[in-house]
Amino acid sequence: FPCELIRNFSVIAHIDHGKSTLSDRLLELTGTITKREKGVNAQVLDKLKVERERGITVKAQTASMIHSHEGRKYLLNLIDTPGHVDFAWEVSRSLAACQGALLLVDATQGVQAQSISVFHVARERGLTIIPVLNKIDLPASQPEVIAAQIQSTFGIDPADIIQISAKTGKGVDKVLEAILTRIPPPNASAEKPLRAFLFDSSYDRYRGVVSLVSVLDGVLRKGDKIVSSHTRKKYEILDLGLMHPEEESTSSLQPGQVGFIACNMKESSEAHIGDTLHHAGASVEPMPGFRPAKAMVYAGIFPVDSNDFVKLEESIKRLVLTDRSVEVTRESSSALGQGCRLGFLGTLHMDVFRQRLEDEYNANVIITAPTVPYKIVYRDKTVTVSNPTDFPDTVDSGSRVKEVQEPVVKASIIVPQEYLGDMMDLCFSHRGEDMDHRFLDSAGASSRVMLTCTLPLSEVVTDFFDKLKSRSSGFASFDYEDAGYKASNLNKMVFLLNGKPVDALALIVHRSAEQEVGRTWVKKLHKVIPRQIFEVPIQAAIGKRIVARETLSAYRADVTAGLYGGHYERKLKHLNNQKESKKRMKRVGNVDLPQEAFYSILKT
Ligand code: GDP
Ligand code: MG
Repeated sequence: FPCELIRNFSVIAHIDHGKSTLSDRLLELTGTITKREKGVNAQVLDKLKVERERGITVKAQTASMIHSHEGRKYLLNLIDTPGHVDFAWEVSRSLAACQGALLLVDATQGVQAQSISVFHVARERGLTIIPVLNKIDLPASQPEVIAAQIQSTFGIDPADIIQISAKTGKGVDKVLEAILTRIPPPNASAEKPLRAFLFDSSYDRYRGVVSLVSVLDGVLRKGDKIVSSHTRKKYEILDLGLMHPEEESTSSLQPGQVGFIACNMKESSEAHIGDTLHHAGASVEPMPGFRPAKAMVYAGIFPVDSNDFVKLEESIKRLVLTDRSVEVTRESSSALGQGCRLGFLGTLHMDVFRQRLEDEYNANVIITAPTVPYKIVYRDKTVTVSNPTDFPDTVDSGSRVKEVQEPVVKASIIVPQEYLGDMMDLCFSHRGEDMDHRFLDSAGASSRVMLTCTLPLSEVVTDFFDKLKSRSSGFASFDYEDAGYKASNLNKMVFLLNGKPVDALALIVHRSAEQEVGRTWVKKLHKVIPRQIFEVPIQAAIGKRIVARETLSAYRADVTAGLYGGHYERKLKHLNNQKESKKRMKRVGNVDLPQEAFYSILKT
């Protein structure tokens, strides 16, 4: 395929606007897959089980198609991008391999928060943007209204918008045509020395690391000796080819092509996203590298049964091979034993990882409350802390700490006008500042508003998203971007059982929320901790200050007492159960804590 017959593009959209459906339709229309192969409801590009269950795309997938048009055969490379804020980084790196993007907007929903954020990433990269209105088969769709919205939000001429139904297939042929006519071919040359841009990698148990590359210049052949610009390490190409949509080996990747390579890379840490590969002996200018993914949410992860730690750690290590954006260190807790501390891009990322651990490795885990990375500014140094355990016990005037800073984000919320007041309240109650809003539509009762404000990231990673959805009847969409650090009045809250702290439960809390958080957690603990033979005070404390307290009254530890006239067997079973659960008990001071108590308290 000469360059002028190649098109590299992506579909960018807010979640649920139909990206996967359109991608499947394109694969079908070009004969890359057949309807039968596709099966009912199974979207070929969403491969992971969690992706299918949650209907989200986590790992970007790439597929090539061959399309005949006016007697010529074109090679179309579709680079799928994830559709969630947590994965904004993956979106940006996938787009680096494209010249164009289909901006897909649901004609019933209109422009949403992620439509805007992905649009800006695409525009910054100088991509040709093809606006596409989807779901016009639905009676609730408002193509004209939404087209006007697209015009006012993005400055796009409504005449350029293609109206389709990815579901019925209507108009999808026009999308294919626009890909050929509007998106420029890659500007690559076979004469120049090889430059292959590595934009994704995965781990295969048998072949080691398999990477996706976009050949910017030159030709990459099987057997070639290549060097990583980043590490200077040398490799041999053992296999390469197209994703069609499954791997299909070829003898070479031509300039402008996108495909997979397998070389003798053993560890996924060797595959640097954003790296430029070149031939051994040649020297080339590498592509500007990528800012590595930054973990913004940390949590401890422990096996429910502490005997399972070795197995859990092994499973985590394997899973991280397929998802390099997860940061892993060891952590140990006096209450929960040995575990790992993991850093994630966001809370959805964390949920996805947990679910994969459970689905793919049968792991049974306890995850501690998520924490963001804080900066502790001392007179002479600044330390970043991502575990409440490492947070100073007191941050008052007498301590050595000058100030504590927390990460903040610039949030944008798009919502129908009638919910604006509720959304402002919500942001305000989550310590939102610099609130501002503007109307997206020129007029009309159902006008949409974009509300922007600065929010502490710690407020966003808890239940903000759920509240946003429920208080806007599901209409609000939300996105955020990094906005640096800000000084804040934060303290460490610890929970004491009979005067002894439970390390795994420590939290970082803003001054304004101390009372509420303290009371809620103390109540939760009171509910799940079984009575002991003595009275147990349960307290929430900040330094020496007690914020909340409940008292667990004493109990006689005779479990058979209630089983009057009971059968012997039933008694025996009960005693054995008690023995079983004793094994899983943790001790905090002299208080016995069942592991399940942690599980149920940290579950929500
Ligand atoms: P993604 O999150 O952007 O990948 O969205 P999906 O492709 O998973 O689609 C989200 C939902 O919208 C699914 O239930 C699809 O069946 C549905 N959908 C997608 N395109 C259309 C369309 O053109 N018409 C209708 N009626 N439903 C669609
Ligand atoms: Mg999808």
